[in-house]
Amino acid sequence: MRTWKEFLREANYIDGQWVAARSGETVAITNPSTGEKLGTVPHSGTAEARQAIEAASKCFESWGKTTAQERSKLIRALADAALANRDALAELLTREQGKPLAEARGEITIAAGYLHWFAEEATRVYGDIIPSPWPGRRLLVTKEPVGVVGAITPWNFPSSMLARKFGPALAAGCTVVAKPAPQTPYSALAWAVLAEEVGFPAGVINIVTGDAQQIGGELTSSPLVSKITFTGSTPVGKLLMKQAADTVKKVSLELGGNAPFLVFDDADIDSAVEGAIAAKFRNAGQTCVCTNRFYVQAGVYDHFVEKFSAAVAALKVGSPLEAGVVQGPLVDDRAVQKVEELVADAKANGGNVTVGGYRHDLGLSYFQPTVIVDANHSMRMSKEEIFGPVAAIYSFEREDEAIRIVNDTPFGLAAYFYSQDLGRVMRVSERLKYGIVAINEGIVTTEFAPFGGVKESGIGSEGSKYGIQDYLNLKYICLGGLSDAPASVGAAR
Ligand code: NAP
Repeated sequence: MRTWKEFLREANYIDGQWVAARSGETVAITNPSTGEKLGTVPHSGTAEARQAIEAASKCFESWGKTTAQERSKLIRALADAALANRDALAELLTREQGKPLAEARGEITIAAGYLHWFAEEATRVYGDIIPSPWPGRRLLVTKEPVGVVGAITPWNFPSSMLARKFGPALAAGCTVVAKPAPQTPYSALAWAVLAEEVGFPAGVINIVTGDAQQIGGELTSSPLVSKITFTGSTPVGKLLMKQAADTVKKVSLELGGNAPFLVFDDADIDSAVEGAIAAKFRNAGQTCVCTNRFYVQAGVYDHFVEKFSAAVAALKVGSPLEAGVVQGPLVDDRAVQKVEELVADAKANGGNVTVGGYRHDLGLSYFQPTVIVDANHSMRMSKEEIFGPVAAIYSFEREDEAIRIVNDTPFGLAAYFYSQDLGRVMRVSERLKYGIVAINEGIVTTEFAPFGGVKESGIGSEGSKYGIQDYLNLKYICLGGLSDAPASVGAAR
């Protein structure tokens, strides 16, 4: 049984080699639950990014021509290796990111799930034959890998966000240069450890840690990179999209959200409370699909608030490695400062805290699970992502009013609602301007379904049968000059 330390690599992975930054510079990585230094990673920049892109581009010449079966086998082996080492990888993830071990295990499982899914999809990239409008021609459509993919990922799901980019990219026949978030590079580098072990050729997967602007600048401007896939905040997504415009790259963006969670009068309140806890407090509220705004219909408002507040007060906060703990620290102090600011602003604008509201006694970046009632739209948190364990509860009277309010945001990633009325269920799900709608459930992410937002929450979908399409180019082949009359027709006359 391997330990988490065996997966902790303090180097870039470029062209099959573990390499330092050319400058020799490093940055320290800290465990947010203890404040201890875990290790360092290279502080790389333009030169290392360029080297990785060149390696990926050279490798694409051969990798792009491998059979789907060959790629499928390797991707499946990578997923199997992750599952075989799930406990060690989960512990590494928890130590660098802070999420409870059970959640980290779940993340490794879904990461492997994405890879397994795309190992299958690799063999299902079918083309078309189009009925020709012209005699003597055949119209074919084939699909080809786009080429080198630049992948930039966030710290909140450092393993699975990368797996859901590696999966479709590798399955399609693309090669990848990835830049992980600076808080959580080790879970990303662990993919390279496994990829090397299962036999991926050098240059297929490259991971470069360091300066975001330099690495991102090179990835978005290099003519050798054909596509940028990014998961992170909306402002950075917009910037990358602009930067990628000069070389007209394909762009896939999984960006921020402002998820509403509606509880209608006819909802099953116990079930809504259970779903609300899952949709708000998973990963200490640091997921893009975490509920940012609870809207509860007036008839059940007090009942919901009472039950929900009791459930939140019972959440166990502590070391994420300890059994039974459901909330660890936030990723860093900056994250806590933002949550503190938003809570202070909510209080100043009429919000009342019924549970929590402060930094936790455990210190560091721990924050109390918090409930704010009497929330209103003058509060910053009604428009900004809280990204922390704070639930703000608003009330509403009528369904159409609630729909109008929750759609009145530039974001459109996930929305949740609880109702037992079938007519309302269909009506509301159709009217919500969101890429993901969860009805009577608090967690819906799976590799089997498309994950993606609309409006400023992103472009494209990850996972499912749709996820590979963004990594493929269509090619139309017109095969002309064909004689449609059989030679024997003329001969018979
Ligand atoms: P972020 O600040 O946008 O950073 C994400 C990644 O982009 C990091 O690796 C970051 O590196 C890098 N980056 C920042 N500026 C860059 C630049 N100029 N060029 C190239 N790369 C750059 O987001 P985050 O705080 O890590 O993650 C939280 C956000 O991600 C939230 O908004 C959340 O909703 C969103 N998210 C969305 C999804 C989804 O599927 N829709 C999933 C998870 C998270 P540095 O930190 O080194 O700058």
